[in-house]
Amino acid sequence: MRVVVQKFGGTSVRDFESRDRVTEWVTTAVSEGLSPVVVVSAMGRKGDPYATDSLLGLMKGLPEATPREKDLLMMCGEIFSATVMAGHLRLHGLSPQVFLGGEAGIITDDRFGDAQILEVNPTALRTALLEGKVPVVAGFQGKTPAGQFTTLGRGGSDTTAVAIGAALAVEVVEIFTDVDGIKTADPRIVPDARTIAHLDYDEVFQLANLGARVLHPRAVEIARQFSVPIRIRSTFSANPGTLVVGGHRAMDPWAHRDPDHAVTGITQLEDLVQFLVRSPTGSPPDWPYRLFSALGDRGVSVDLVNLFPDHAYFCVPGQVAPATEETMRHLDLPYDYWTERAKVSIVGSAIQGLPGVVGRIMSALNQHQVEVLQSSDSHSTITLLLKRSQMETAVTALHHQFGLGTKEGLV
Ligand code: ADP
Ligand code: MG
Repeated sequence: MRVVVQKFGGTSVRDFESRDRVTEWVTTAVSEGLSPVVVVSAMGRKGDPYATDSLLGLMKGLPEATPREKDLLMMCGEIFSATVMAGHLRLHGLSPQVFLGGEAGIITDDRFGDAQILEVNPTALRTALLEGKVPVVAGFQGKTPAGQFTTLGRGGSDTTAVAIGAALAVEVVEIFTDVDGIKTADPRIVPDARTIAHLDYDEVFQLANLGARVLHPRAVEIARQFSVPIRIRSTFSANPGTLVVGGHRAMDPWAHRDPDHAVTGITQLEDLVQFLVRSPTGSPPDWPYRLFSALGDRGVSVDLVNLFPDHAYFCVPGQVAPATEETMRHLDLPYDYWTERAKVSIVGSAIQGLPGVVGRIMSALNQHQVEVLQSSDSHSTITLLLKRSQMETAVTALHHQFGLGTKEGLV
């Protein structure tokens, strides 16, 4: 049996016509002698009746639901979607079988809303495949060993797909979405961003982790661990999209180390809050230790930490800013903060320290009067903190500066 996983995102299962396109992809796989496992997200996007946000909206004006109840509510979206999708497959002569995440063998811990997959037991899926059925799995959800239902965090259907792909040792996991693959920037900001044909896990992880919504970072982690090839492509076009596999594209990746070819893509993340903390006068020098361990104990992960002897800068996502403030007040640390911050990252394997790259970044930003508030870098990333209002300008300017667009076609 040659098994593949085909995952379809919200816009791909949004309406009758798009679900018919999905059916064509599944039918094509079957006619090629493949055994597909279909994984679906909730139908549509924010505003559509059965999308995740709409389901959460049902609780508006009511007391805050418990995390477990929120998961029960949210997971319904994928159940609706899987059941309706099964109807479409049946209409076209296939034999679907619907699976909840737990029934498909996705076992998670009990962190409701952001559960981590502990293991996948693919026995039931394998049995269905051997019977010639097409499993249709509700994405984004799992079950704890004690039988409680959980969800995997927003974007988690990608993780469902890759985890099942790993457990069944499939040939490829195909992630179908509303764009032609992973692009050199978010096409909503840069319309002429180019689709990247091949990427390795590290680059995709950096892109996903630094904001490129197109693939869930945890899905990339699992794919890397189990060497599962992923293809990201559009449900609505024949473009082969992006193939993500291990290893480098060139035998000697260092051979192309020049600033014209070093950058893979530009990403952005918004809704960050920047903090400046000062050491209280006369306090012992252990204040950074007390601060960051207290934040860690509250589950607040900090980013862009710049430490100095008597002050520190760092950033947190907007939703944990209140908890961060509370921690600092509790520790009696004087602080300032600024909302409406965004970070823009330049991703490329081995760009750190490559002569010319930082100069080019600064030249592009300077031309457009973009002010850099903080920065950090790693082997394959350079991240800049900016005012949210300058985010789009910066992404567009950097994309152009490194010749990444279809018009420029340098890489
Ligand atoms: P799905 O519901 O299919 O999972 P998502 O909305 O999660 O779709 O991901 C697809 C979206 O990701 C695209 O519509 C696009 O706006 C956004 N995106 C952000 N960065 C990138 C990028 N570098 N390449 C492609 N798409 C990107
Ligand atoms: Mg997604």
